[in-house]
Amino acid sequence: MYVPMNDLKIQYKRYKSEIDNAIFDLIQDSSFILGTSVREFEREFASFVDVRTCIGVSNGTDALKLALLAADIGVGDEVITVANTFGATVEAICHTGACPVLVDIHPEYYTMDISKVENSITAHTRAIIPVHLYGQTADMDPLLDLAKQNDLVVIEDAAQAHGATYKGQMAGGLGDLGCFSFYPGKNLGAYGDAGCVVTQDPELDMKIRQLRNHGQNADDKFNYQSIGFNHRMDGIQGAVLNVKLKYLNEWNHRRCILAERYEIGLQQVNEVQLPREAEYAGHVYHLYVIQVDEREELKKFLKHEGVDTSIQYPYPLHLTTAYEFLPYQEGDMPVCEEASKRILSLPLFPDMERDQIDFVIYKIREFYR
Ligand SMILES: *Cc1c(COP(=O)(O)O)cnc(C)c1O
Repeated sequence: MYVPMNDLKIQYKRYKSEIDNAIFDLIQDSSFILGTSVREFEREFASFVDVRTCIGVSNGTDALKLALLAADIGVGDEVITVANTFGATVEAICHTGACPVLVDIHPEYYTMDISKVENSITAHTRAIIPVHLYGQTADMDPLLDLAKQNDLVVIEDAAQAHGATYKGQMAGGLGDLGCFSFYPGKNLGAYGDAGCVVTQDPELDMKIRQLRNHGQNADDKFNYQSIGFNHRMDGIQGAVLNVKLKYLNEWNHRRCILAERYEIGLQQVNEVQLPREAEYAGHVYHLYVIQVDEREELKKFLKHEGVDTSIQYPYPLHLTTAYEFLPYQEGDMPVCEEASKRILSLPLFPDMERDQIDFVIYKIREFYR
């Protein structure tokens, strides 16, 4: 049996006629950039996250960058985030001219260790970016309190958390701004690059709409209000996302059922540390991440048996070449550094068959027997 990390072709086949029709209609309509499909998606996704407004943009990285810029963050400012995230979070901070300040993660939930944040706040700190990693939100209430006390902007990196909840509230709608990626492999994926920013604040909404489209207001073309970008969402992505958003809850539910099957099947294997759901969290299992001592051996064994795995992420950001200039050394983020040597992401996607999960469980048990 072969078990891939993901298989987007199965999903396409399942919804082929609906998606084909949406793309065909978009081409007939030829509104290729922004346009009605993007406007409709912005409306629907804002309602899904339960926020006032959603701005469709080119990808999740640009969403983060525009959110930071709209909050007036730039040279001389510091932004606190985590060392265990996809590089885009820290890239976006650097591209505004601000300086990233990294903190360690919680040993069981892998999200920002909120107790480490207070000590990292300086007179230059302007914002905090919690990353809702693997499908589970960071512990937002103490973070929001801290932000309020210190007058900081909170920008959620919700690129792995479409539909995840914190104490019943949707990820992305908890802070001042929420950023999503619709990279094809995310829980809600487009057919190319796409992303969005959500917010309750009409002023931030207006600024981001301007910035994504060369600093112009929609109703006053060529009258540049700010130095903007071309960070618009394509119409075709809006069309595909409009079809797929309807199924997101169903897919997330399926991910949870499959995760539970892993849990039941692996809980007797003492060598395997399973993912834990925080009391406050509605997890959406973007990734199913275990920890083991013999990570490389297990990965190689599973590959040989036909099971793909991946590692999110093998290098703590502060130990990569790009971020050598930051004032960190090995040992500064012990939880993150330790986890990076032990974590392993097992295959999990909504169209995965139960016997594929069972096969992975069987092979892991065999490895430890
Ligand atoms: C995917 C991802 C991003 C970036 O999204 P893109 O659409 O690929 O630019 C940012 N942060 C996290 C945590 C991600 O997983």
